[in-house]
Amino acid sequence: MRTPIIAGNWKMNKTVSEARELVSEMIPFLKDVQGVTTVLCPPASALLPIAAMLEGTDIGLGAQNMHWEANGAYTGELAPAMVSEFGQYVILGHSERREYFGETDETVNKKVHAAQANGLIPIVCVGETLEENEANQTSAIVSRQIQAGLAGVKSDLVIAYEPIWAIGTGRAATSEMANATIKIIREVLADIFGNEVAQGIRILYGGSVKGSNAAEYFAQSDIDGALIGGAALKADDFVKIVYVSRAEVMKGNS
Ligand code: PEP
Repeated sequence: MRTPIIAGNWKMNKTVSEARELVSEMIPFLKDVQGVTTVLCPPASALLPIAAMLEGTDIGLGAQNMHWEANGAYTGELAPAMVSEFGQYVILGHSERREYFGETDETVNKKVHAAQANGLIPIVCVGETLEENEANQTSAIVSRQIQAGLAGVKSDLVIAYEPIWAIGTGRAATSEMANATIKIIREVLADIFGNEVAQGIRILYGGSVKGSNAAEYFAQSDIDGALIGGAALKADDFVKIVYVSRAEVMKGNS
């Protein structure tokens, strides 16, 4: 049984005071929630204040990116040890990082190594563009991203399958489509880590998940939670998604 993860990627949203307000609305509902792992990934500026607010709760904290080097002349970057001072997770290889900031499978791979070496759990994002999807290349693209991005790493990680055409567009992949691709990802993970280990790795779906459509994803056999963008900026929607994922776990256990 894989414990689901609901991770909120706030992207470049929320000043520290806005972040505090959002988290204070969520904490009463999420602080003791069992059967699901919740992770908040605010912008870097809010990591320290939000870490203080989350102390003593079961809510995890993550960064949205980091560099692979330990320190040095990398203006604007955060080192792995700087992230691990506050958080337990880091999102790596998000499609917006790949598209706007030149992230490649090779840089993702260096970052996964560095994250694990610093005790962080990477949430590694993979996914295809609309053109690739329409050309039936989804399986080839995600397989390449997983094989190259995870070369030589340990299995302590989370994967997020995010079809790029479904991110922030309101055009979510159907739950069956997402589950089918996630099964392919799990097969690639089995080639890398062996089947038993692959069965234990959490694979999330991301792309226009909201409180109103979350249940259909979590009812699927291989979807172990979600990476949430827009809906993570609304306390009620994010909390609803967490509770929906928990309800699906309870159903599965009964
Ligand atoms: C994301 O950016 O990871 C994401 C899934 O965004 P949204 O939920 O807004 O589609």
